Amino acid sequence: MFEIQSPTPLVRLDNNIIHNKNISLFIKRDDLIDPEISGNKWRKLKYNLIEARTQGFKKLLTFGGAFSNHIAATAAASKKFGFESIGIIRGDELNADSNTTLAKAHQDGMSLKFITRSQYQERDNPYWISALQKEHDAYIIPEGGSNELALKGVQEVVNEIDVPFNIICSAVGTGGTVAGLASALHDEQKVIGFAALKGEKYLHDEVSKLLNGEINNYEINHNYHFGGYAKFNPELLDFIQSFNKEFNIPLDPIYTGKMMYGLMDMIATGQFERGTTIVALHTGGLQGIAGFNNQHQTLLAEN
Ligand SMILES: *Cc1c(COP(=O)(O)O)cnc(C)c1O
Repeated sequence: MFEIQSPTPLVRLDNNIIHNKNISLFIKRDDLIDPEISGNKWRKLKYNLIEARTQGFKKLLTFGGAFSNHIAATAAASKKFGFESIGIIRGDELNADSNTTLAKAHQDGMSLKFITRSQYQERDNPYWISALQKEHDAYIIPEGGSNELALKGVQEVVNEIDVPFNIICSAVGTGGTVAGLASALHDEQKVIGFAALKGEKYLHDEVSKLLNGEINNYEINHNYHFGGYAKFNPELLDFIQSFNKEFNIPLDPIYTGKMMYGLMDMIATGQFERGTTIVALHTGGLQGIAGFNNQHQTLLAEN
């Protein structure tokens, strides 16, 4: 009922460093799922959309910050599959013209409601959720799209991978993607999540909550967040440019650039056993680069 480009390609990456450390490295190109519906955001939305349609909802309501890839993806997916959509946005000083993410969501037909940061803290409060649900007669999706049905969609990433692997890597925001991957692995496999933001205990707890504390085959690496969410330095941007030149694969500066920087650094510094096979999940996020370039007058290639 809701199909987009899938399975996505699994591409081998090799260079001298990877070769010398005797690592087999692959990248799972979920960035190719759709130009507007970012890779892992689609994985997390898919079964939520199916559930919304099954329950007869015509409207989706969700939450996000000013530059949220999830807001962009929900707006684009709603348009594509014929839902109305409402975005509850953190920051009452913002409007639909504040940046390209919000402008595009608005253009895709999403109705944007801007609330204060303190109101936004209530985004998981069940009383407020149920009030919103009644007020708008909408199917509610949490921030980042990370709920139980999201895990089911992310599990399909693992099922599509047709080489045996030891480790799968993903960038971490709300933790839904890492939780979904972890829930699909065999016992001897593990997930490494690269935190895109600061908050050590918080992130681990979020993943654990999504897994009901039952699965423990993941670790979260906090060494490569570059100071926090959307923070960066010239070294990260240089890395993204040279990775694109070497492999012809664009990365975004918020999530996938940090993950791949971290993973390449860990490989180069010998942190994996020889003979290890690693899959890096390219979660997408490329539609956000235009906004990033706008904001920082930095020119990263947009595809
Ligand atoms: C949102 C996002 C993530 C983080 O996913 P979570 O499931 O929230 O941890 C990673 N990469 C990209 C490109 C994203 O847009």
